[in-house]
Amino acid sequence: MQGYFDEGDLVGVLTTQPLGRLLDYKAPEGGCFAGAFVEVPLGPRKVLGVVWGPGKGDWDLSKVRSVIRVLDAPPMREEMVAFLEKAGSYTLTPMPAMLRLATRAPGLGDPPSMRKVYRMGSGEVDRMTPAREKVLGVLADYGGLAFTLGELAEQAGVTSSVVKGLVKQGAVHEEDTPRDVPFPRLDPGLPGRELSEDQAAAVAALSGAEGYRTTLLKGVTGSGKTEVYLEAVAACLKAGRQALVLLPEIALTAEFLTRVEARFGARPAEWHSGVTMTERRRVWRMVAEGGAELVVGARSALFLPFRDLGLVVVDEEHDSSYKQEDGVLYNARDMAVLRASLCGAQVVLASATPSLESWANAESGKYQKLELTSRFGEAVLPEMRAIDMRAEDLPGARWVSPTLQREIEARLEKGEQSLVFLNRRGYAPVTICRACGHQIGCDHCDARMVEHRFLKRLMCHQCGETKPMPVACPACGVEGRLAPVGPGVERMGEEIAALFPEARVTVLSSDMFGSARALKTRIEEIAAGEADIIIGTQLVAKGHNFPLLTLVGVIDADLGLQGSDLRAAERTFQLMRQVAGRAGRASTPGLALLQTFQPEHPVIRAILSGDEEGFWQAEAREREQAGVPPYGRMAGIVLSGPDVGPVFDLGNHLAQNDAPLRAAGAQVFGPAPAPIARIRGRHRVRLLVKSPKGVALQGALETWVSGLKLKGDLRLSIDIDPQSFF
Ligand code: ADP
Ligand code: ZN
Repeated sequence: MQGYFDEGDLVGVLTTQPLGRLLDYKAPEGGCFAGAFVEVPLGPRKVLGVVWGPGKGDWDLSKVRSVIRVLDAPPMREEMVAFLEKAGSYTLTPMPAMLRLATRAPGLGDPPSMRKVYRMGSGEVDRMTPAREKVLGVLADYGGLAFTLGELAEQAGVTSSVVKGLVKQGAVHEEDTPRDVPFPRLDPGLPGRELSEDQAAAVAALSGAEGYRTTLLKGVTGSGKTEVYLEAVAACLKAGRQALVLLPEIALTAEFLTRVEARFGARPAEWHSGVTMTERRRVWRMVAEGGAELVVGARSALFLPFRDLGLVVVDEEHDSSYKQEDGVLYNARDMAVLRASLCGAQVVLASATPSLESWANAESGKYQKLELTSRFGEAVLPEMRAIDMRAEDLPGARWVSPTLQREIEARLEKGEQSLVFLNRRGYAPVTICRACGHQIGCDHCDARMVEHRFLKRLMCHQCGETKPMPVACPACGVEGRLAPVGPGVERMGEEIAALFPEARVTVLSSDMFGSARALKTRIEEIAAGEADIIIGTQLVAKGHNFPLLTLVGVIDADLGLQGSDLRAAERTFQLMRQVAGRAGRASTPGLALLQTFQPEHPVIRAILSGDEEGFWQAEAREREQAGVPPYGRMAGIVLSGPDVGPVFDLGNHLAQNDAPLRAAGAQVFGPAPAPIARIRGRHRVRLLVKSPKGVALQGALETWVSGLKLKGDLRLSIDIDPQSFF
């Protein structure tokens, strides 16, 4: 993609519309360069596009229309074009969908101008109404962020006149600002912390790389990895290049921003679903123009138009949230490596419990491996023990073993905190009718409804549908016999409160907080000691610092080992090690207790013994023998439709016509009902394609499905390197 086109020249334009080809247009008055963002007519509409190259000219020339205008946005760089094309062909994603990923900021074509924004004001409100309260609540939630009138009204769920009323009283402040201002400069020259020997060695090994390189930075939680990669960010900024730090969870952003501010004297740009549209547009433009040096964000930040990206950090690189599971199916960790290799940047993959993929790449020397072996300062790793639940005397509908109870008791006496971990949101995973045995399911999915007592609803964790808890059984009509089965964190909260009536008990689950801000505040309070017992889901496993926490009790260590998922062992190992890592971060040693019915299970034994290398080697051997990733290649195909018959027919048709796959050396398995056989009213059928490592799988898959006509409402999606099997 190169070159300049004179007015009237034919250009090929890639649009965000789902069309199979580039569209021909005439270059507008004044001409245009390849890479220019343009607005083009498509039928009666105007759509966003990028000039991709010369037009094909296989169109009736008299019907070719002109580009409407070249947008006032920095043109797409060749490096970005290459990235989108490579990522698109790796994930088998059509280019329009890739372009949508790269343009997820509104108003890209709008001219720079002034606009009115709204922030928290200082005036008193003479008459508080629920609507007014909502507006002020939103402003408080987002700290100092400014909103446009529309955004603020929408976020608060009120009309804009409510906001205007608050402006009159001075409680909301209205001001004119330029649309897109650069972010404050970060100062990498400010002194960093004094590094330990381990840390200094890692920082030295990270510096001095010219061009692309990926490093796996491994170290237990609390070993100071963040401190190390902040120095890599500093070196990158000093070299005048931009840096990107990806975090797996928005809730972790706030703590990290504070650390960036402490290190570099200013806050970086933020990019995630909690950022307002106005701010998104600013970040997109500033990244392209060089007015943003560091971006902290979610996986989609990888598609921002960096001018000169020199470093990508993927923190908690093993985290499954890096895999996008709908729309474009990509793994941000792998895409980070791809992008960096195209623009000569460094990648740092940080984790206490790396993915087997990264572990194997480090073993084979493809990645540099750096290890921080001890915790920073005096903190030591917690001791880990199993509680054999077969030997515990526990009545029904109770989950805290007497052993765990005694240990929590002991912490309470010493004024230390305990964490009770259960990776299940809600009150109870199943609601059963004691009269007829019926289990309440979702009307649209092959899934049970989960009771959320806090929200006073039943909720489907697949589609998000909620309904009130019925009084009578929907199957037999008998009233008053519906009962919860099994524990969720909310129910654990009740049990713990009953066992320790004097203790301050708090339940931390993502669905129990109205906003990321509220959650963050609660986490800070807990860190400051405002709770004795914390009950949490995996939300608490991810990187929060609770200095007073010395005991972790895992209610059900066997939970993740059920099911046939390829990564079940790996995930359980990572999650358990990570949760345990929450204990004893300050100078008091911690203890982690795992309640299990199978203490002799190899994964549980590996977790307890802490023999990580042994675990990874055993896991690697097993995967190698099975010929699965990272030692073989795999693709998951999900077919779906409103009626089960046609979906299966299509699956059988694909399985029978597998010549293109066999020719390439790949094999297809299935069709079989997907583990969740119905979601949102659509029946789902899976096929699995496996091949040895060297096979050009994407090409074979493309040929395989290319002739296919998807009749009616049938859909097909292909997931390269599937992470989960649902
Ligand atoms: P990780 O990212 O590996 O979990 P962190 O970088 O968050 O570890 O470090 C754990 C704790 O130790 C943090 O509170 C951090 O501020 C502190 N810490 C790490 N390195 C240093 C250092 N060199 N000097 C002072 N404190 C440090
Ligand atoms: Zn559902």
